[in-house]
Amino acid sequence: MDFQFPDRVQLGLYPTPLTPATRLSEALDGPEIYIKRDDLTGVTLTGNKIRKIEFLLAEARQHNAEVIITCGGAQSNHARTTAIAARQLGMRTHLVLRNNGGKSLDGNLFLDRMVGAEITFVSAEEYERVDDRMQEIAAQYEKEGIKAYVIPEGGSNALGAMGYAFAMKELADQIKKSKQTFDAIVLAVGSGGTQAGLLIGKMLFQVPINIIGINICDDAAYFQNRIRSILQEARQRFSLPAQLLSESIHIVDGYVGKGYGLSRLEEIKTIKQVAELEGLILDPVYTGKAMYGLKDLIAKGYFQKDQKIIFLHTGGIFGLFPKRNLFF
Ligand SMILES: *Cc1c(COP(=O)(O)O)cnc(C)c1O
Repeated sequence: MDFQFPDRVQLGLYPTPLTPATRLSEALDGPEIYIKRDDLTGVTLTGNKIRKIEFLLAEARQHNAEVIITCGGAQSNHARTTAIAARQLGMRTHLVLRNNGGKSLDGNLFLDRMVGAEITFVSAEEYERVDDRMQEIAAQYEKEGIKAYVIPEGGSNALGAMGYAFAMKELADQIKKSKQTFDAIVLAVGSGGTQAGLLIGKMLFQVPINIIGINICDDAAYFQNRIRSILQEARQRFSLPAQLLSESIHIVDGYVGKGYGLSRLEEIKTIKQVAELEGLILDPVYTGKAMYGLKDLIAKGYFQKDQKIIFLHTGGIFGLFPKRNLFF
């Protein structure tokens, strides 16, 4: 389909590699697993968020924004990526971070500070109305004559999702070049924007592949609603065909474990296993849980052995460091 993407400012490194994980595939004795290395979008911009932020910051620039306001947990990959990317374009960032006792100057938060992001910590309770809080902060800046641009949690709105519609095109080209067929993409889902974007890309570029999200917080119904509403917003904003809304939104629930940002022993062991087998570093909050989920699904016979699947590595390495004590 002929589709005109909105403006984008490229900050990440593309295309990210699509590489086979031979030893892992063998160890799990299931389908052939390939990794789409979106952890390689850049050292400090590592992970999936930069693909969304490239579209969001392009719009912020069109609005002549000086300050970018966004939010997340204290170890938010999205907040860190935004803070660093904004500086690369000469803009400042004001972050509203949920403080569950995780204020230690480590991992992502350390990098937020390094680039001089303004940080407002709020309690988990206050965070429930974080969108209002960000609007209040924006209004405060505007009062001082400073133009502000607000990015929602995870960059997961219609414009942010364009990042993964664009990534789907990149992946479709790689699949074509590889002369192989892949049955599914498996990914971690935290705010839904990545999966929404992949679904948009799948429709736009007619990629015959299953997109299977593994939620790392909340539940399947929550994300089906959330992703559907991003798709609805995208359909309106970018005049996409109604067919987009008939796509099924596939979320496999059951791998939230102890809850958002909390790890179980089996997840930690999976991260260690993948590190030793493949030299591939996953993160405790997202990709470690999704990989544990994939492992468990394979053990339960969810995939056939002659299938080929792609695990989307969405990054998150800086979230490992504050969790070092869980490993050794
Ligand atoms: C944010 C994030 C995700 C989830 O992506 P969403 O678009 O928010 O669903 C997955 N992995 C990592 C490492 C992330 O930072």
